[in-house]
Amino acid sequence: MQLKDVLIKNGFHFNKRFGQNFLTDKNLLSSIVEKAGIKESDTVVEIGVGGGTLTGAIAQKAKMVIGFEIDTNLKPVLAETLKDFDNVEIIYKDIMKMPTEEIESLIGGRFSVVANLPYYITTPILMKFIEESDMVDSVTVTIQEEVADRLCAKAGSEDYGAITASIDAVGTAEKIIRIDRKMFYPAPNVDSAVVKIVMDKGKYDIPNQKAYRAGVRCAFQSRRKTLVNNIMMAFKTDRKTAEDIVVEITGNPQSRGETLSTEDFVKFSKLIVKNNLKF
Ligand code: SAM
Repeated sequence: MQLKDVLIKNGFHFNKRFGQNFLTDKNLLSSIVEKAGIKESDTVVEIGVGGGTLTGAIAQKAKMVIGFEIDTNLKPVLAETLKDFDNVEIIYKDIMKMPTEEIESLIGGRFSVVANLPYYITTPILMKFIEESDMVDSVTVTIQEEVADRLCAKAGSEDYGAITASIDAVGTAEKIIRIDRKMFYPAPNVDSAVVKIVMDKGKYDIPNQKAYRAGVRCAFQSRRKTLVNNIMMAFKTDRKTAEDIVVEITGNPQSRGETLSTEDFVKFSKLIVKNNLKF
């Protein structure tokens, strides 16, 4: 039976609040799983199971899928669409309310994340798994194309932002598939894209992650201001100290935060610590 028929049969009503736009095309779903690089030995955490179509495609490849779904009205739907899989467990909880350590101990080993995310939790979900956990191998997310472009942007480009620099510090993001809005049921107002982030926390030598994050926050605080002005404001420091820091990073006291590469942010984080700036 098609997903649409199962939804109708069970009297399911889409809840806009939860960003419910489902994917049903089998070729697209298997292409997402294939490009996510899911292997037979993998445990996958899926966020937002929906009608279970992506879950089923993952379960065909992975050892185990642990799916999280906030909407308990999907229970009868999922009982039907996932009945043939014995390697799927669905947890009906708001993923944002589950501490990361609790998710890690539930899984009990390394895992990959695959998700078709509603817009309202894209950034917090990415930050949760990318910054808070050391057990994640990769994160493959379907998101609004505009956000996908931000995750993969080059330093200095219009799309480059705090999230780009945060992700690049701990992994490598790549846009792997574009998805036309018509592929979703119901169709949203924007196109989407799938981004795969391969985690590599040893990519850069960042002795103080908190200082790195403070530096990124400061640099993007006000795009109209120079980095010197942003440093003075964020760390309540004098112009001379701020100028010395910026010159040491870029050689140019007029630099703006959005031109800093990840290497520059690493230098910045070390200078924040060296100069005893408060963060
Ligand atoms: N994975 C399915 C697919 O690809 O067709 C559904 C994707 S749909 C865009 C997002 C799903 O996430 C919805 O089923 C929604 O109910 C669920 N969701 C939204 N917020 C959530 C949260 N905080 N915790 C868990 N699930 C959530």
